[in-house]
Amino acid sequence: MFGECHAHMIMDGVNYKAAVALHGNGVCEDAVRKHLKESTDAGVRFIRDGGDSRSVSKLAKELAPEYEIDYRTPVFAIHKKGHYGGIVGYSFDDWKEYKALIVRAKDEGADFIKIMISGILDFAKAGTLTEDGLSRDEIRYMIDAAHDAGMAVMAHGNGDPTCFWTLEAGVDSLEHGFFMEEETLHLLAERQIPWIPTLSPVGNLLGCGRFPDKEVQKNLEMQMERVEKAASLHACVGLGSDAGAYLVPHGKGTWDEYEYLKSAGITDAVIHQAEKKIKDIFKRW
Ligand SMILES: [Zn+2]
Repeated sequence: MFGECHAHMIMDGVNYKAAVALHGNGVCEDAVRKHLKESTDAGVRFIRDGGDSRSVSKLAKELAPEYEIDYRTPVFAIHKKGHYGGIVGYSFDDWKEYKALIVRAKDEGADFIKIMISGILDFAKAGTLTEDGLSRDEIRYMIDAAHDAGMAVMAHGNGDPTCFWTLEAGVDSLEHGFFMEEETLHLLAERQIPWIPTLSPVGNLLGCGRFPDKEVQKNLEMQMERVEKAASLHACVGLGSDAGAYLVPHGKGTWDEYEYLKSAGITDAVIHQAEKKIKDIFKRW
């Protein structure tokens, strides 16, 4: 049985605006219970959330034992003001504010710190992102400051230089990681840092009509090729579907992701190893 290493309990895989609005006046417990049930019914017994701005994952963690799920959350993700990340967390303007958010996350019971350091895929245009990532110095500072506070770091990052700098700075897990080039994949394998390539939010768009299939297919193929390369380098690749993202329902999304990983040559042993590593990270920090 596999765990889900990247989910967002706040979203429902259908319509994120409506799903987020549901928690407008405090967390909607029914919605959280529904997603936890979907997960446990699918056999998922471990979930690592990517955070949200409405304390939904915080409640999910409290309720999860009832569903026999080991739930881990950063409570909210942290992004630099003016950049991507508003749906999943809070922003900072300067380092003082950044450090205050780390303290707040810890106070609210975060298991680790989640940082947002790049844009997301522009689904309509393969190979491109909605915005560039942060600078090398900024990325290093964010990771170092979280580590100094005794917290592991899960980083949302895309784009080759961004991913290289993130791995180089000693991140504890890399999320999405689209468009990594050869040298970066070698660094990933060398460091044995868990990489969650989240293929489902791309692949599951095929045929839905929201974006041109040709572009979606290209993005999917690019990421599959990189996962295959990572597999050949014996990198640590884990299973995380970004459950809750559009067309990636809780529970089912985890199994969709499993199929993508398998067809890219990732074995069950590698998936288990990555999951174990991710769980061990919480103990180490
Ligand atoms: Zn995410």
